[in-house]
Amino acid sequence: MGLNYKQQLEVIQGLFIPPDTAIRLDCPFCNGKNTLSVDTMHNNINWYCFHASCSAKGKYQGEKDMTYVNSTFKKKEENLNTEFYVPDSFKILDSSDKARQYIHKNNCWEAWAWGRADIKYDVKQDRVVFMIRHEQKAHEFVGAVGRALSSATYPKWYMYGNKDVPFKCGLHEHNEAVIVEDCASACAVSNILTGVAILGTSLKQSHKQSLKSYDKLYIALDRDATTKAFDIANELRSEGFKNVEIKALKDDLKYFNTEEIKEMFYG
Ligand SMILES: [Zn+2]
Repeated sequence: MGLNYKQQLEVIQGLFIPPDTAIRLDCPFCNGKNTLSVDTMHNNINWYCFHASCSAKGKYQGEKDMTYVNSTFKKKEENLNTEFYVPDSFKILDSSDKARQYIHKNNCWEAWAWGRADIKYDVKQDRVVFMIRHEQKAHEFVGAVGRALSSATYPKWYMYGNKDVPFKCGLHEHNEAVIVEDCASACAVSNILTGVAILGTSLKQSHKQSLKSYDKLYIALDRDATTKAFDIANELRSEGFKNVEIKALKDDLKYFNTEEIKEMFYG
């Protein structure tokens, strides 16, 4: 992708990985599934993508102590439980044709039109933005997830504000939920059952908390993430979730309309 070291570093910093952490995640440079390894151990930031053709490989040496890593990441941590202020650059969806097209193509239109999802357009980052609602106070937002609308924008998915609350889309009366890869898929299923997007990460404790109210959980990650789906299923079962089922997919749920999804789950 031809990003130089400095640009790569900027993207890696934008992931807001806390100090002393080693994680695997989807590569924002080549979109490889779970191919990017980042660690912030020992006062360094190292990143490495296992895709041979991907140039995302680098290392940032901290400035003698943890000050650098702390100053980069602490700010975010402090924000975790505070209010999320919706940036001025978030405009109504209608202000971008590309954003409208995205939600049409990815079966989010219905969820948006019926108010199950709040979707905006970030004019500054050129992203279609899925707002994350407060779990109890539905009119408050705790964060947002932005999908890049151009291939020149990194990373492909960007998280604003709180990263501990998953993006959820559904109806109050749903007693079944499905764990999906991204926000668009969560919207696509939302008339039938509640979609919960985990966004390329593993399942966090806070995510599990918000799954407790459902009688049944499906896990529907894409085919490349089968191992991850089994890991998540095992993890949930070991923590007392009784009704967990892995749903094999032909394709991402965002490529199916409501009728097809109904057929897929309850046909
Ligand atoms: Zn890569």
